[in-house]
Amino acid sequence: MRNLCVILADQLNQEISSLNDFNKDLDEILICELKKNFNDNNHHKKKIVYQISCMRHFGIEMDALGFKINYLKLNDPNNEDSYASIILDLIGKKGIDRVIVTESSSYDEMKSIKQWQKIIGRDVEIRKNDLFMCDKQEFEEWATGRKELRLEFFYRMLRKKYDVLMDGEKPEGGAWNFDKNNRKPLAKKVSIPKNYSCTPDKETENVINLVNNEFPDHFGSTGDFIFGVTRYEALKALNQFIEERLTYFGDYQDAMNAEDPWLFHSHLSMYLNNGLLLPKECIELAEKAFHKSKAPINSVEGFIRQILGWREYVRGLYWLKMPNYRALNDLAAEVPLPSFYWNTKTKMNCLKISIENTKDNAYSHHIQRLMILGNFALIAGIRPKEVNEWFLSVYADAYEWVELPNVSGMALFADGGIMASKPYASSGAYINRMSNYCKDCHYDVKEKVGKNACPFNYLYWNFLDRNRKKLSSNTRLGLAYRNLNNMPDSQLSLVNESAQNFLSAILKDEEI
Ligand SMILES: Cc1cc2nc3c(=O)[nH]c(=O)nc-3n(C[C@H](O)[C@H](O)[C@H](O)COP(=O)(O)OP(=O)(O)OC[C@H]3O[C@@H](n4cnc5c(N)ncnc54)[C@H](O)[C@@H]3O)c2cc1C
Ligand code: SF4
Repeated sequence: MRNLCVILADQLNQEISSLNDFNKDLDEILICELKKNFNDNNHHKKKIVYQISCMRHFGIEMDALGFKINYLKLNDPNNEDSYASIILDLIGKKGIDRVIVTESSSYDEMKSIKQWQKIIGRDVEIRKNDLFMCDKQEFEEWATGRKELRLEFFYRMLRKKYDVLMDGEKPEGGAWNFDKNNRKPLAKKVSIPKNYSCTPDKETENVINLVNNEFPDHFGSTGDFIFGVTRYEALKALNQFIEERLTYFGDYQDAMNAEDPWLFHSHLSMYLNNGLLLPKECIELAEKAFHKSKAPINSVEGFIRQILGWREYVRGLYWLKMPNYRALNDLAAEVPLPSFYWNTKTKMNCLKISIENTKDNAYSHHIQRLMILGNFALIAGIRPKEVNEWFLSVYADAYEWVELPNVSGMALFADGGIMASKPYASSGAYINRMSNYCKDCHYDVKEKVGKNACPFNYLYWNFLDRNRKKLSSNTRLGLAYRNLNNMPDSQLSLVNESAQNFLSAILKDEEI
């Protein structure tokens, strides 16, 4: 029996389940650069370069290892932009008996894979996606009967299951979570190691030219492309993080800095999300660093919680709640996405820098995404659909399964609290405490209302005021609502007036 193993664009790992019993004498592999994966959104040029170059390098490596590869490049005349048509063609040419594929991470792609059998007239075996540590079904079982789907309990379950950072039955270091130690602003004297960076080889140079020709109007540029594109390079990036940045990862996890977009984060998400790295090996190396006293518990636990906790959790939630999750807009947010998200033209320094970092690097770290870009969209009441489109386009690590819950659930509270126990809304004071953005801003972070006031200040109170019905009973917002209720009416009117003026300026597309 001759099998055709289809390796999807984000499954670039030899350990993938579709290859488990691959017979090099008989079986063949299909890898295909589907155009629709790259032009269905205004994807950042660096994101497209990254994805295509990784696929090409993987194809070359597998070929060198003796796997029979059918690789269809973006502009190949046989690339019909649909897996089913391409497979049908290969069946005719190569006498394929059965197709094997690992389940897709994307809801829509999975839907079309389920149609393949009918279209191609051959058995299609869909295998579990073993690039994740928690199976979809396991998440569903965990979620069944729970009133709230909080990360913390899910994360503890996986810590125990995989015996990660455990001291017998108890968590290593005496606590499950060291988050309260991980909220320091960047210390003045701390020196930040340089982020991992690769020089593009000939293959990547070709892809850069291809992307410049095929996607000239997409967001960002291909210049200064520094991501690794092979497993070897991704492993080097992982090792460099463990050696040079993990120690301070925890301390400065929430810090932001105008001069450095990378800080002590790992910058590994793009490698994890297309299979170049496996979550388990990242966790094992971090845990080893702890046991060798190379990194403290708050950093190691913090890093492991992101990968074993948040990453697996958002994937489970996505599959549990799709397809309806996409349409959720619980706070009825209807303001259009301001044009500055695309063109960086805003006087708000925190947003300007975060968007410029995103445009330059196809990367920004979590706190920029959550507490600047997401927080603004939340308190200004921007339409979730448009915010999701933006986030899905601009980051090299963005795939719907991870982007959507983070945006609609964590950042926008558009799911009504399925994911987060309260909205991550904050005024300018938080941004000022955690960054050095405010000192060079057009607006005054100390001013509460009026033309010069920091927009985050009045938008924050206006957000709480206009969403009283939905949010005032949330116990985690008790203090905020007590403060709002104690605000003199005259002050609240000024807050709401400033917010109205600001939101009208967004509607008129004025520079704000
Ligand atoms: C609004 C918003 C949108 C986001 N969109 C994406 C996205 O499209 N793709 C994506 O991979 N992550 C997304 N995240 C999660 C997180 O911000 C990124 O994973 C992280 O910034 C990637 O940088 P890093 O590798 O340096 O992460 P680190 O800070 O070094 O964290 C280590 C790893 O943990 C994982 N991780 C951390 N936080 C999360 C999280 N909330 N959800 C899932 N995995 C997490 C990532 O794999 C990451 O590489 C988003 C978060 C928010 C708030
Ligand atoms: S003053 Fe307000 S808008 Fe300006 S950087 Fe600070 S938080 Fe951002």
